[in-house]
Amino acid sequence: MKLNIENKKKFNLTYALIAVALFLLLQNFLAGYGATERLQYSEFLKLVESGGVEDVVVKESTVEGTLKDPINDHDRFVTTRVDPDVARDLARQGIEFTGGTEQTIFSTLLSYILPAVFFVGIWFFLMKRMGGGGMGRMAQIGKSKAKVYVEDETGVTFEDVAGVDAAKQELKEVVAFLKDKDRFGRLGARMPKGTLLVGPPGTGKTLLARAVAGEAGVPFFSIAGSEFVEMFVGVGAARVRDLFEQARKVAPCIIFIDELDSLGKARSGSTYGGHDEKEQTLNQLLNELDGFDPTSGIVLLAATNRPEVLDPALKRAGRFDREIVVDRPDRVGREAILRIHLKKVTEDPVIDIEKIAAISVGFTGADLANLVNEAAIFATRRDGKQVKMEDFTQAVERIIAGTEQRTRLLSTKDRERVAYHEMGHALAAASLPGMDPVHKISIIPRSIGALGYTMQRPTEDKFLITEDELKNRMVVLMAGRAAEELIFGEVTTGAADDLAKATDIARQIVTRYGMAPGLGQAVLEAQRSSFLGDSAIGIKQKDYSEETAREIDTAIRQLIDSAYTQAKSILEERNRDLRAGVELLLAQETITPDDFPALEPAQTPGN
Ligand code: ADP
Ligand code: MG
Ligand code: ZN
Repeated sequence: MKLNIENKKKFNLTYALIAVALFLLLQNFLAGYGATERLQYSEFLKLVESGGVEDVVVKESTVEGTLKDPINDHDRFVTTRVDPDVARDLARQGIEFTGGTEQTIFSTLLSYILPAVFFVGIWFFLMKRMGGGGMGRMAQIGKSKAKVYVEDETGVTFEDVAGVDAAKQELKEVVAFLKDKDRFGRLGARMPKGTLLVGPPGTGKTLLARAVAGEAGVPFFSIAGSEFVEMFVGVGAARVRDLFEQARKVAPCIIFIDELDSLGKARSGSTYGGHDEKEQTLNQLLNELDGFDPTSGIVLLAATNRPEVLDPALKRAGRFDREIVVDRPDRVGREAILRIHLKKVTEDPVIDIEKIAAISVGFTGADLANLVNEAAIFATRRDGKQVKMEDFTQAVERIIAGTEQRTRLLSTKDRERVAYHEMGHALAAASLPGMDPVHKISIIPRSIGALGYTMQRPTEDKFLITEDELKNRMVVLMAGRAAEELIFGEVTTGAADDLAKATDIARQIVTRYGMAPGLGQAVLEAQRSSFLGDSAIGIKQKDYSEETAREIDTAIRQLIDSAYTQAKSILEERNRDLRAGVELLLAQETITPDDFPALEPAQTPGN
């Protein structure tokens, strides 16, 4: 199909060029030799003398005019001028003569055809830039479906995706909606307009989106944000409009925008070319989002691995207001993914999938698919009939070598440290009143900085925070380092981020909330800082004395020290839980309070 189009385009080009050349030549000849008689200059002079010339137009290099009596049925003539002196001498001698110009066929070609070729060239170049070819394309830029991929049936189901159970669970709701939107509406459930899949590359975001379409049995429209970047101004916007128009016709269906970040990057004002285009496309997308009716049966999914660069306008309520995290799989998840991909190769029956899962820490779904493939290649290379364990260990090593920087695989010792650190945070949070319950602890390295993380899920929106709660938050933050010191007798750089956050809270306790004894209630800094969510890191204005500054520093230090001491004493008290939890965490890589009940909040505050 594609080949065909190429051929046709080439044919068109040659054809057009030949046509243009022929036409110009023909016209030239007709103008020169058609209805006009070409005379020698001496003949012309004789005709003048004999009065055979009706009228004359003298040009720079020719003389044209009308004859009284037509010659060869032509009543117009043209002749090339000759220098009058020369002409006079020649005429006196009775010599026949004519003028000539330097114009040759070649120069005619140059002067007529080159510009034509030039314009035709530009035209073809423009057509190509637009991603189409030929006239038809030009007339319907907006209708172009070139880069919108439509699949009536993706053929992918949730069975093909593993290790991302939480995301799958949330997406099942979307499937339910697509299958029976009317029933969904009757129950009063409101579908969020846009759902954003967030996670590192290769974790299965695209796969999940297609699985949703497959499960629901609806068409799947997909388009990648990066494909808008190189287009003309206006084309991207037209394409977005077109996409939604098409989707509306076949609803229920799914629109999937991959790599949303490359389209919806926060508008910075200082971008090079393509900026306008991106902005227009983004605006069109926002327009469509605002304009569409969630009950129309169109489900909007988007994926990104860089949620932090997204234009905030995209995430506002009523747009992509639901976020689903698609994380790297834990050990059990990796096992499940391996089983999926192993179905495609003949495997050694004695293969130990659990072990492969255990040694592929930090691998994404795509890494694991690649792993199975590489192992099969190793097996082929050694002429094996089956893929064996040794092929897998070799392949794991190879992939680790290739992706080391990306997944940052940790040494056993470091993993242990990270596990204690995170368990420290978690146990402190579980021990203190008023803290958000621990939702999940993980020691799977994330791509952005963190080696592990503890997720706390707020149970309610809080508008007022008590002094105790603020201090308890500091204890939770300091507990990571406290656990490290308690177990290993030394601390690491891993706590840098925690320390910064704790210091931030301490500073606010002292300077904003007037909670520090001795410093009174005066607000010492009006600037809001990042702790409460607005990230404006402005220049702070000091409106207090040097002495007060010293007192502030001391008060902050005291708050942090006392938080640290409290964290340590909590962990000393729960030493056994700490060790048991870490053991489980190292084995499983992620744990929830269901796996480890010691993480359940000890006291429920108030009620
Ligand atoms: P992403 O869009 O998150 O970058 P993809 O969905 O494109 O990742 O994944 C690429 C390939 O990796 C998939 O086609 C699939 O073969 C494999 N893969 C990724 N994640 C999973 C998973 N969770 N389960 C099974 N296979 C996966
Ligand atoms: Mg993808
Ligand atoms: Zn920490």
